[in-house]
Amino acid sequence: MLHRFFVPASWIQGDQVTLEGPAAHQISRVLRLGRGDRVVVLDDSGWEYVAELRSVQPAQVAGILVERCRSAAEPRLHVRLYQGLLKGEKMDWVLQKGTEVGVSGFVPLVTERTVPRLEADAAGHRLARWRAIVREAAEQSRRGKLPLLEAPIPFADACAQKAGPAYLLWEEEEVVGLRQALTSLDAGSPAGSGSVSLFVGPEGGFTREEAVLASRHGVQPVSLGRRVLRAETAGVIAAALVLYHFQELGDPPGP
Ligand code: SAM
Repeated sequence: MLHRFFVPASWIQGDQVTLEGPAAHQISRVLRLGRGDRVVVLDDSGWEYVAELRSVQPAQVAGILVERCRSAAEPRLHVRLYQGLLKGEKMDWVLQKGTEVGVSGFVPLVTERTVPRLEADAAGHRLARWRAIVREAAEQSRRGKLPLLEAPIPFADACAQKAGPAYLLWEEEEVVGLRQALTSLDAGSPAGSGSVSLFVGPEGGFTREEAVLASRHGVQPVSLGRRVLRAETAGVIAAALVLYHFQELGDPPGP
């Protein structure tokens, strides 16, 4: 299985590709690839290219594109995960596992119970670290496109911007479960190629007022069941359940 690298589209010129920086270092120093070896380069367009290496230096690697194909691993359904800002490395975990599962977009949320310091951190150095985690997970899991990672936004703005069906994961919801909500969605619109948004709280959960505000914007509170999941577990599990429901997870890759 060839190593994969997301590269800026400008690195691909005609049938030539030039890789620099960490990608060149990884190819030359870590993987120790040489002339004639092959890697896959992706320009985040949904296409991927097999490149045969022609020169391998620590600072720059050049290759010739010998094949191109549509990336097969991208889900048609776009799951957007609105995640209450989490402490420590829990956000890293959500981004990595969510990317592997097939989440297409992450929006960190500032909610009543998120820790204020996290918002400032997330606007700075943490965002760069998170982007690197998403990129590495997308390359490892053979994604065809990089999931979007947006800067943190306030909960109310997220509720107002939601597009398509949207669900607020609420452990105090006693009537509607995610399974029922998705089934009723089937009856309405085949979201198979649309989008579904999931809102997950921080360690302290959502407030009742936030759940009410979400409902008013059509972000439906749903339960994941009787067990209370940690914040970093809930979003990944819910995304997997949605993707499985719309047959974007759990089936063989096919031809
Ligand atoms: N105190 C724990 C922690 O530190 O992670 C749990 C906090 S709270 C329950 C985490 C978030 O996970 C909630 O805001 C909700 O979005 C989601 N969640 C957890 N269990 C859930 C369930 N059974 N049904 C719906 N949402 C759930």
